[in-house]
Amino acid sequence: MKHELPELPFAKDALEPHISAETLEYHHGKHHQGYVNNLNNLIPGTEFEDMPLEDIIRKAPAGGIFNNAAQVWNHTFYFEGLSPNGGGEPTGALAEAITKSFGSFAAFKEQFSKAAATNFGSGWTWLMKKADGSLEIANTSNAETALKLDGTPILTIDVWEHAYYVDKRNARPAYIEAWWNVVNWDKAAERFAG
Ligand code: MN
Repeated sequence: MKHELPELPFAKDALEPHISAETLEYHHGKHHQGYVNNLNNLIPGTEFEDMPLEDIIRKAPAGGIFNNAAQVWNHTFYFEGLSPNGGGEPTGALAEAITKSFGSFAAFKEQFSKAAATNFGSGWTWLMKKADGSLEIANTSNAETALKLDGTPILTIDVWEHAYYVDKRNARPAYIEAWWNVVNWDKAAERFAG
């Protein structure tokens, strides 16, 4: 089974000035595509050859197949969580859950930004829905993915340097600040309702 790179759900320049077309050219066109290509090159002749992506992630041991499969999934989840009509604050049940779990949207934003800024090295920061409906923030390193954490992933920010170096050089906090302007809260609400 050949894995395919999903199209971006918006035009490459649609997130400007917050995330540039050049960043997406590399992040989607080179990095995300690269993980898809690597995965397709690694699985022929293995037990993972005809397995759906999420099954590969759950079953593959640490190593190249897991890393590339997880990065394909993580990036698709990340890009789906962005929108040119995004930003602002969520509404409805997700907004209520954020207030209940963190005290306020502002407190959540501060905690999430801090977790993302201090996630050491390359990785991902996630908003997770736990089984009891409450929310928590989780960091993972490298290709490690929320699919292997308890609960349901609602939102993620990629904090690998390739996500921001073109636009912000080394300033990860500036990228995090820009990212809040393009968060797709409709998609997050859909995942929360799941
Ligand atoms: Mn990335």
